[in-house]
Amino acid sequence: MAKLENKADIYGKVQEMGRLFYLSSIELFGVVFDIKPAMAEANTGIYDASTPDRLKRLGELCSDLGLKMAFSRRKYIINSPRGIFQEISLDDPREGNLIIGIAKDQKAALSAVAHYHWKMLHSRYGRSFGKLMGYPDCCLDFGDYLNNNDGNPDNFGFRNPAVESLKRSKKIAWQLNVFVLSLIPHFPCSLDCGPSKKYVDAILDALRGVTTGFVLEAEDKLKNCAALYWSCADRILLKGDFKNKDFLNAEISYEQPEIQMVSDTFYQENDDSYLKKLQEIKEKIREGDRLLMTPEYFEISNNGKILLKEKKNHPYVPVLIKSSPIKESRKRNGSK
Ligand SMILES: [Zn+2]
Repeated sequence: MAKLENKADIYGKVQEMGRLFYLSSIELFGVVFDIKPAMAEANTGIYDASTPDRLKRLGELCSDLGLKMAFSRRKYIINSPRGIFQEISLDDPREGNLIIGIAKDQKAALSAVAHYHWKMLHSRYGRSFGKLMGYPDCCLDFGDYLNNNDGNPDNFGFRNPAVESLKRSKKIAWQLNVFVLSLIPHFPCSLDCGPSKKYVDAILDALRGVTTGFVLEAEDKLKNCAALYWSCADRILLKGDFKNKDFLNAEISYEQPEIQMVSDTFYQENDDSYLKKLQEIKEKIREGDRLLMTPEYFEISNNGKILLKEKKNHPYVPVLIKSSPIKESRKRNGSK
């Protein structure tokens, strides 16, 4: 890294690495700047004939940045909502992804790949994986809870960790409003978790001045948007006049929704009726100007006329969430 003069150079290379294998450039940046020790990812894109060349380029970029990389010698079939994770050989005709690990140290990169694989097949490796990634202890404990080893039917586990964080929260720090945007690689034990907030602050501070536009946009979204949220793959961001009684009862009068629904491409297998329903909701949200959320149903209306009233199967799916109002003393203006 010492060879590179400025952060903008580094950021350009990090972004190229991100594009090659769908790696989070934010998380990579965290590793480059020692905010976290390692990263590993399995959702790296379908393995194909172009993969070896892309791996070579990734290796070059890593060496420019003082990083080491490792990758699996097998492919993985991933389908997160149903918890499918299957290991297949590289020449298996079925589509699969490589696991890629990146760290400052070669051993850590190799270990990251191995632990990622193990944790998907045996939940008992989740904690050692998290430790390797530098996750806070309080959130590692939460990870143990998400494993749901005792089969608690009220625990969504890794299918919807954001909702599990929400259930343990009294307030939502803007840094941790993962319903709107997640800048942290782990699942926070609560949406006001101290070490997790510190991590987001460190990432945003490191990025300030390198990619100022991104930082300003991220802060604006985290502080000012509400999210209509099903899962990390399906959400709609809404800005407007937001009121809530608690996390399950809220309403918003909104303008110009920002629709982020990607489960059809994010997951390898999907439920068609769920996708069809989302499509309908998306259209009604565009036509509407007000959304009402209750534990039993939600309602989209325009100018007082109801466009869609949808019964919910679970009080927390979907939810309408905004970060808790920021107190004046928390503002960082004027400190620099
Ligand atoms: Zn925590």
